[in-house]
Amino acid sequence: MVTLSPRATDDSIEQLAKMPDCARGLDWITKNVPWVTDQQVRLTEIPAPEFNEARRGEFLKTLFEATGWQVRIDKTGNVIAERPGTDAKSVILLVAHLDTVFPASVDVRVKRDANRLSAPGIADNGAGLAALVGLARALSESRIRTTKTIVLAGDVGEEGEGNLRGIRALVENYGSRLAAVIAIDGASIEHITTQGIASQRVEITIAGAGGHSWSDFGAPNPITALARAIVKFSAVNVPDNPRSSFNFGVIEGGTSVNSIPASASVKVDLRSEQEAQVKIMETALRDAVDTGIKEEMSAARVNNDPLKVSVRSLGSRPAGKLPDDSPLLDTFRNVDAFLGNRSRLERSSTDANIPLSLGIPAVSVGGGGKGGGSHTLTEWYDASGRETGLKRLFLTTVALAGVQP
Ligand SMILES: [Zn+2]
Repeated sequence: MVTLSPRATDDSIEQLAKMPDCARGLDWITKNVPWVTDQQVRLTEIPAPEFNEARRGEFLKTLFEATGWQVRIDKTGNVIAERPGTDAKSVILLVAHLDTVFPASVDVRVKRDANRLSAPGIADNGAGLAALVGLARALSESRIRTTKTIVLAGDVGEEGEGNLRGIRALVENYGSRLAAVIAIDGASIEHITTQGIASQRVEITIAGAGGHSWSDFGAPNPITALARAIVKFSAVNVPDNPRSSFNFGVIEGGTSVNSIPASASVKVDLRSEQEAQVKIMETALRDAVDTGIKEEMSAARVNNDPLKVSVRSLGSRPAGKLPDDSPLLDTFRNVDAFLGNRSRLERSSTDANIPLSLGIPAVSVGGGGKGGGSHTLTEWYDASGRETGLKRLFLTTVALAGVQP
């Protein structure tokens, strides 16, 4: 694997920022924050539900092309812009996910109220995509020549059931050439995510014969069995250390109020700082489902066909952690010191999970500005502070890529 060196020190960031090419890029950022915000609005207003990112991707491609980058769309749907360095074998990859958690029917038009922009997806990940576009333009304007190749990618499949297929394809493609991966997700620049949380997502379906609510009364009911299982599992002890969580997120079943349903299903998200704990919770979940079915069968008054259970994986994310002494983290810290930005280390489940799980240096950070209400219809974004966020990404990228005289 390519290694990152030398370490960017606090002083060297100051030196870097003073170099004429670099200063030109920073100056472009200072003057063009409103332009970046306009691109964010245009990107956000193109719906991009999971598995339907293509239209937004096409638009991102035209934005990259307009800045003079080489752009292609890979077969997974990732939009990839490359800026070759003198060393083609060493790559700094920055990604921002194109997809949102919202179905195509959701109104994604952006409402502006003074500095506040409101729309589903405006921050997650409108802020990340806008940062990529701003970075592409600032690097072009700077005319800086780097040692490492810089790759910017709008990737697919980060949210929901996408199972990180976009970043998986990028990491597979660039492989051992990756010196560092930076995932830009959301707005906040007060954190650096260095630890990837492991997760497992499953859909559990319980099926039975079904029947008429009156004439077949007493037959085992899949919805009731599922409800028993959910209550059982919710009583299971989930540890604080390693920090772990579960969520029953979507529940479906039945066809009418006067029919005993033939099936019922629930989608469950299990997470932990440790992969082993996710496995423990998965086993406990399956036990709870078995118990729920057993209880429902023994409560049945009519001796019917037994209920059947099936479990479908909706995707899993591996865990991983960036070492505290990583040059990638040092660089971010030194850039933060130079810009007067305070940030803390965090754990989360993001695109960075994939490179981290393979030992490739990776972090997830925000693109700048403020945001809230992520994954809700009342999501908002405020561009105050965006300038610092963009400069932070610009300086970190250039420091990592190395400047050619
Ligand atoms: Zn996101």
